[in-house]
Amino acid sequence: MSPIRIGQGIDVHAFEAGDHLMICGVKIPFNQGFKAHSDGDVALHALCDAILGAAGLGDIGHHFPDTDAEWAGADSAMLLNKVIDAASEAGWVTSNCDLTIVAQAPRLAPHIEAMRLRVAELLGLPRNAVNIKATTSEHLGFTGRKEGVAAFAVCLLQAK
Ligand code: MG
Repeated sequence: MSPIRIGQGIDVHAFEAGDHLMICGVKIPFNQGFKAHSDGDVALHALCDAILGAAGLGDIGHHFPDTDAEWAGADSAMLLNKVIDAASEAGWVTSNCDLTIVAQAPRLAPHIEAMRLRVAELLGLPRNAVNIKATTSEHLGFTGRKEGVAAFAVCLLQAK
């Protein structure tokens, strides 16, 4: 059996003035945007950290510093592609991932399938190897007060 590695990642972004959110590479119309150096895609950032963690390659802030103008407004799908390449160079390929997004608003259920397909496309995996879950926090904490969104990701890598 080829070696496997597990990784996990967490990210949070606050809302600010705007008209859409990017989550899992999907544009979601909303009455606010994410405050972020990049496009603020919390779910893809959590996934990047899960992959980097599993590969033993540090974290997203190390690879893409928010002090670096190169990543200003960056498309997080592009960041994920770079992370996939780094893991690949280290000898690893993602075999599955499971993401949980915590948001009181907007309602994410109508977008889950598009998110799943987009993440599967980005990872080059079949749909059934990517799972996306959304939950509220029952009006508790910063997500419950609709101040932002949190995302959690786990992934499994296998040796190429
Ligand atoms: Mg982030």
